[in-house]
Amino acid sequence: MANPRESELSYPLGDQLPAPGEVLEVLPGLRWLRMGLPFALDHINLWLLKDDMDGRVGWTVIDCGIHSEATQANWERIFAEHLDGLPVLRVIVTHFHPDHMGLAHWLTERWACRLWISATDYHLAKVASSSTVGMGGEAAATFFGSHGLTDPVALEKIRGRASYYPGMVPAVPVAFRRLMDGMVVRIGDHDWRCLVGYGHAPEHISLFSESLGVMVAGDMVLPRISTNVSVVDMEPEADPLGLYLDSLTRLLPLPATTLVLPAHGKPFKGLHERIDQLQQHHAERLAEVLTACTEKPCHAAELLPMMFRRPLDLHQTTFAMGEAVAHLNHLWLGGQLRRTLDADGIHRFSV
Ligand SMILES: [Zn+2]
Repeated sequence: MANPRESELSYPLGDQLPAPGEVLEVLPGLRWLRMGLPFALDHINLWLLKDDMDGRVGWTVIDCGIHSEATQANWERIFAEHLDGLPVLRVIVTHFHPDHMGLAHWLTERWACRLWISATDYHLAKVASSSTVGMGGEAAATFFGSHGLTDPVALEKIRGRASYYPGMVPAVPVAFRRLMDGMVVRIGDHDWRCLVGYGHAPEHISLFSESLGVMVAGDMVLPRISTNVSVVDMEPEADPLGLYLDSLTRLLPLPATTLVLPAHGKPFKGLHERIDQLQQHHAERLAEVLTACTEKPCHAAELLPMMFRRPLDLHQTTFAMGEAVAHLNHLWLGGQLRRTLDADGIHRFSV
């Protein structure tokens, strides 16, 4: 959903964007590049940080892009033209999603360097990458069906999407270094503190440098679109929205002047405003859902036209279903709604 209060944010780099295979210098030793994505979300931002490790000077890469020949070709141009002839020394991945994790195996092999990531996201990436079920397939179809998505054509397509993740993340490095909340990682001349975020991925790691006044946000805070917060089939009774909102609140002590480097969209200032906007957005959504369920018992699928107000393709429908269930579960687990499992096998929520 587009941000109606975007004008409260500022974009210190203006409208500049790095072209494919090119970089923009955000600060000395901190470079921004973009890779294409085959979704409505058409790009991901990746970051290069000047580093030194084990007596060698080079670069730390943050996030990778999906596994594709085009992304690899763009990386090769970056290596040839924009690393000042220096090697990649380490790959940090904020979370396991394919646009962030996809080429981690290739980058770490290409440069004989280590992947740094949270343990939860590392292990989930391994499972999702090596499995032909899970993260789609029959379990997802059953889950969406239990929340009112009954269109047989849509369900058949969801069943057939079982190789969605391995297609973009065909392999995961065999070893990793574990990132945890509060850990300080020295990158070049600066300390970066790991900030765990929940609700978007199991254990998402953002990085904050006090000396630079910069946060590499990953997907936790984006300027234009709200971060996807979904319930998934693997954990159907989860409350990711509660976790996400708590995680946002824990970012409020960061300075208001922080330059936020998001995984999608442009670098921006206005972290506190953006957190307030996202909290307001979800509060309004929760109020709408509560009102609808007060009028009559509702399942997630019938809330989609009210919550999304635009035509959705299948990919968007699965995301929207996950988000609708996230809002319902938050109200249910918070005691504001009760849930029934009706004779048709569908969960409905009412006051
Ligand atoms: Zn993500």
